[in-house]
Amino acid sequence: MKEYLHFINGEYVASNDGKTFENRCPVDNRLLGMVHEAGAGEVDQAAKAAKAALSGPWSKLNQAARISLLNKVADRINERFDEFLEAECNDTGKPRSLASHIDIPRGAANFKAFSETLANAPTESFRMDTPDGTGALNYGHRKPKGVIAVISPWNLPLLLMTWKVGPALACGNTVVVKPSEDTPATTTLLGEVMNECGVPPGVFNVVHGFGPNSAGELLTAHPLVDAITFTGETKTGETIMQAASVGLRDISLECGGKNAAVVFADCDMDKAIEGTMRSAFANCGQVCLGTERVYVERSIFDEFVLRLKTEAATLKLGRPESEGVNLGPVVSQKHKAKVMSYYKLAIEEGATVELGGGEPEMGEALNGGAWVEPTIWTGLKEDARVIREEIFGPCCHIQPFDSEQEAIDLANNTPYGLAAAIWTENTAKAVRVSAELDVGICWVNSWFLRDLRTAFGGAKQSGIGREGGVHSLEFYTELKNVCIKL
Ligand code: NAD
Repeated sequence: MKEYLHFINGEYVASNDGKTFENRCPVDNRLLGMVHEAGAGEVDQAAKAAKAALSGPWSKLNQAARISLLNKVADRINERFDEFLEAECNDTGKPRSLASHIDIPRGAANFKAFSETLANAPTESFRMDTPDGTGALNYGHRKPKGVIAVISPWNLPLLLMTWKVGPALACGNTVVVKPSEDTPATTTLLGEVMNECGVPPGVFNVVHGFGPNSAGELLTAHPLVDAITFTGETKTGETIMQAASVGLRDISLECGGKNAAVVFADCDMDKAIEGTMRSAFANCGQVCLGTERVYVERSIFDEFVLRLKTEAATLKLGRPESEGVNLGPVVSQKHKAKVMSYYKLAIEEGATVELGGGEPEMGEALNGGAWVEPTIWTGLKEDARVIREEIFGPCCHIQPFDSEQEAIDLANNTPYGLAAAIWTENTAKAVRVSAELDVGICWVNSWFLRDLRTAFGGAKQSGIGREGGVHSLEFYTELKNVCIKL
């Protein structure tokens, strides 16, 4: 039976009290192995190892040496690509075609992406006059922030974890990672890679467990943690913000969304359908940036609904490795129950089910898995819970609009503000509408097109702070001003 151990100070360790929990594959519910659950002892060990490593050999590496070590980590992930791929597909059930295209290569690339930014980002400098006429020179100096707690979710486990670990280490910090309880494998495997590449012990640590009353809560409350970076639900973000307030620690929160697509009559319909297929159904709808609300200009509404549901009906559900499969299960039985509760609620709230709405018949071997049908609704009122709340499943609601202002108002009518997609061939309109949308990321005629140098984060209840490019430098370093009297 496979065991997922903690990785502390360069070594794999079991929980002192032997406490474990199951890791099951959502494809067929088979038991993949037992995960060790960290208690206060293991979290304390990990935090102390990370703190000590801040003044060990890691701190003696100059920037170029650190960057070259992280490039090695990226290369080694790519060399062990198949192992990472299998681990990720087992934990999440996602199609291999997707994970081999997005999760693993982008997960590795996160260790390289920040090197150039780091090497080329200027810090400010101001020359000032003084009464004696000699003047003074101010300049900014960046230091690593210290021990960073990284709390990550299950939807893109390796990618979203390295999105934080990459820049944190590039800036000279050390980390303690708490991966999602549903997807422990690739984070565990990364420990081996760190050792193979010669990353000093204590720089990268992993503790497994749940959130409340478990590893997550213990880690965010630990006094040796200097800053917390989190991706997950908004409610959890609120709890983590409270934990971070003790000792006034910095936070970066990337939280939930209820993202809109706005499809204008002057769009290129082929592009809009192709993009909305991906934004609503990729990764079985479990992408924070995904579209769950689609607003379509009335004159093309019927055609859009027909084309999207015709296309979505061709999605092929199946095992990650099966030929042509482009839709896996959702991540767990618990999440399936949540998604199915919204499918039921949609009907109670008066939706017209255009497609799906239930559980697919997958055959005996897969029926124990966390399968749900891709689903499209129309006809709900704007105050329906299905329109207001994040479902995080392969589903969307489509609603007509009559004017540009109405589309903007509808898109903004949500407590969330993560992402939006606008579909129009009129550039002036795209610029106008994107300026009005209350989101952190707005795509025009595309979706999920990411340049890692750009800002990433959410407005309103979708998060606090921005990561990516120089914005990651802001979070992962402490900027000090040095003033020299000349
Ligand atoms: P979640 O909030 O349930 O869990 C995320 C992580 O937080 C897990 O590791 C969990 O164990 C931990 N956690 C839970 N409670 C905690 C606590 N009290 N203290 C410390 N840690 C705690 O989220 P999830 O279900 O894993 O992920 C799905 C959510 O993530 C969705 O809401 C999605 O929109 C969001 N998400 C956001 C982004 C983004 O960039 N904005 C990206 C991906 C996912």
